[in-house]
Amino acid sequence: MEELPLELRILKSFHGHLGPYVVLGYKMGRMAREKFPEKIYANVYTGNKPPLSCLVDGIQMSSSCTLGKGNITVNKGSFAMANFMDEVGNKMVVELKKEMREKVDREMAKEGEEERSLELFLMDNSQLFDVTQTAVNRPTQTLTGRR
Ligand SMILES: [Zn+2]
Repeated sequence: MEELPLELRILKSFHGHLGPYVVLGYKMGRMAREKFPEKIYANVYTGNKPPLSCLVDGIQMSSSCTLGKGNITVNKGSFAMANFMDEVGNKMVVELKKEMREKVDREMAKEGEEERSLELFLMDNSQLFDVTQTAVNRPTQTLTGRR
């Protein structure tokens, strides 16, 4: 297989392996950090059971929301979803699309996981996630076309 991009090698070294959920979390967190480059808070609803909870490590890696700083909270649940907020309450909800979740769970296996993770990494965010943004004092709008 082709060599992994540097950021995925770093992610792998942090997380211990490179599975689909840590990569998906990484992409979610990166998108949120672009939206909220200053203060940012995250709420994740994966619970703490891998492989789904691997999402949390990916989010920590790219969003600057970390357990050590206390600006990420891992809630009970089994959703491939995170809410991100800035300090005034602007909000961005990112959820893995239902069909992608089914595909990822169906194909979950140690064998070939790096190849599948790399494929997900290279996919467009609009193919992977449903994104809902809520600005303070503004009506909700759904942006599915955003990368
Ligand atoms: Zn993992």
